[in-house]
Amino acid sequence: MSQAHPADLPAAAPRRARLAGPGIRRWVWAAAILAVILAVFLLALRTGNDQVRHAARQRLVIVEAVLRAAVDRSRSLPSVLALDMQVQSLLADPSAPGAVAAVNAKFEAIARASGVAAIYLMDARGLTLSASNWNQPLSFVGSSYAYRPYFLDAVATGASRYFGIGSTTQQPGLFIGKAVAAQGGEGSGVVVVKVDMEGLEGEWRRAGEQILVSDAAGIVFLASEPGWKYRPFRPLAAAETDRIRAARQYGDSDLRPLLAEGPPAPGGSIRLPSAGRAGRGLVEPVAMPDLGWTLWYVAPTGASLRQAVLVAAATGVACLALAFALAAASQKRRRLRAEHSMRLALERRVAERTHDLSEANARLRAEIAERERATAALRATQDELIHAGRLAALGQISTAINHEINQPLAALRTFLASTALLLERGDQATVRRNLQRMTEVTQRIAEIIRHLKDFARKTGPEHREPVRLAAAADAALDLLRVRLRAEGVTVECRIPPDARVRAEPVRLEQVLLNLMVNALDAMRDVPERRLDLCATREADSRGGPIRSWRLAVADCGSGIPPEHMAQIFDPFFTTKSAGEGLGLGLSLSSLIVRDLGGSLTAENGTRGAVLTLVLPAAEA
Ligand code: ADP
Repeated sequence: MSQAHPADLPAAAPRRARLAGPGIRRWVWAAAILAVILAVFLLALRTGNDQVRHAARQRLVIVEAVLRAAVDRSRSLPSVLALDMQVQSLLADPSAPGAVAAVNAKFEAIARASGVAAIYLMDARGLTLSASNWNQPLSFVGSSYAYRPYFLDAVATGASRYFGIGSTTQQPGLFIGKAVAAQGGEGSGVVVVKVDMEGLEGEWRRAGEQILVSDAAGIVFLASEPGWKYRPFRPLAAAETDRIRAARQYGDSDLRPLLAEGPPAPGGSIRLPSAGRAGRGLVEPVAMPDLGWTLWYVAPTGASLRQAVLVAAATGVACLALAFALAAASQKRRRLRAEHSMRLALERRVAERTHDLSEANARLRAEIAERERATAALRATQDELIHAGRLAALGQISTAINHEINQPLAALRTFLASTALLLERGDQATVRRNLQRMTEVTQRIAEIIRHLKDFARKTGPEHREPVRLAAAADAALDLLRVRLRAEGVTVECRIPPDARVRAEPVRLEQVLLNLMVNALDAMRDVPERRLDLCATREADSRGGPIRSWRLAVADCGSGIPPEHMAQIFDPFFTTKSAGEGLGLGLSLSSLIVRDLGGSLTAENGTRGAVLTLVLPAAEA
């Protein structure tokens, strides 16, 4: 089973929360936005309705004043006419010639002047004696209105006020009645002024207002909308319907109720049946107790509803914009948080890796230090071994040295003894020759010791340095310049300038000098002398790094006889006559070269000997 990386764990929990969270959060957000929209809608609607109600109240004051003015204008007219002498005379004697005509003319003139619909006079039985419309087709004259409440009320109480539909004209109007006493106190009658109020309805309609006026029974008798007229707000009791029908107050109206629920509460809202534009409206009533009427103003709420919807829609849009902005901000915050935690995890991982690396580094350093210590110990051991090896080599050649030095010493002793005898004899010439020979012997001993001293000097790898083979060869050739020229030797030097070996420069020159001197010695008896130096590189593989350099020193001399080949590196082996060679050149050179980590070998070429020196390259 794979294990979660520690850096993944903190990221997993928020991801789970995010998966569970958005659904619920989105619903909460939606509910909150809906609640805000609803609250704003209700507030806007309420504010709009308050404004509508306020405007309705203001308008109602004016409408009431106009309505009252229309009533009041003709209110006192019946009382004035009841005092008129001609009217009273007519009542006293309706058959008096010219009396009816005179009152007719008077009524007609007053009606025209005051703008009322009709003025008429009834006798005690309710029969119309005179009327302002005496000369019109639908004249009241001769008609009996004894059953009409305005007649009965006036007879009973002296005055009456009544709104109803005219039984003759079928025109609605306000009937204002006043009892009239006949002149001389015989008989009585009632004078009635009918006021036409349909003009008001027309004004309301034109103003686009919804206004109703209801009577004490709750029946609408004036309205801006004709369909609302002569209809009670609520269903009437049967007795009441009978009474109204009997009085023919509202003509043949069926008294169908306007609203099923009854008269609206003040400030409430109703929907009136309408064929036109009227919709739901706020109702503001004002009572006119002296007339027994109620004036209703219905203010439409459609505009405030539309405004509230608009405000709510704007709020919704704003809320959505805000929600989107908040969602975008929170998404950005979440992204930044995720990036931050990712960065932290990355940094933690980098820190862990860095810690691992530094630990590995420390381990490596410790290993290197340990290896260096081991290498140093090894090198010290190697140095000791080399030195010991050198001493062993010295031991090996000590026998030869013993022989080489003991012989001259024995010769010296012999010379000394013979010189003492010769001195006694006075043979000075022989003494001088002996002294000369003794000097030569000591010189030879000194030379052997010098060679050995040079070689025995303890040197270590620290004295080695990169040495250009060409430079070392040039230095050795330089020392031999005089002899080369004197013996007419041609030198061919083919050493690449980049050929560099790790060696001690002075000892390398010493080796090269030995090889060149031997070559010149070997070419002493040949007519054409030629010294050839050629260096080639040696690598592990083709194109690989240079491992070592091989320098061949070839001459065209006598060559090395095969029987001498095994001995030429032995100390004190020489084929040269005494005084010319010690026989230490090749043996010491070979030891030096081995010391430098290389090798020295000899072979015969096509003409003469080839001594080959191999040394480690400086780059190796
Ligand atoms: P030395 O030169 O004093 O004789 P070396 O050890 O240098 O001592 O040489 C030993 C011997 O090796 C020489 O005496 C000689 O016989 C032989 N030898 C060395 N180099 C050559 C050479 N280039 N050609 C022929 N013989 C040589």
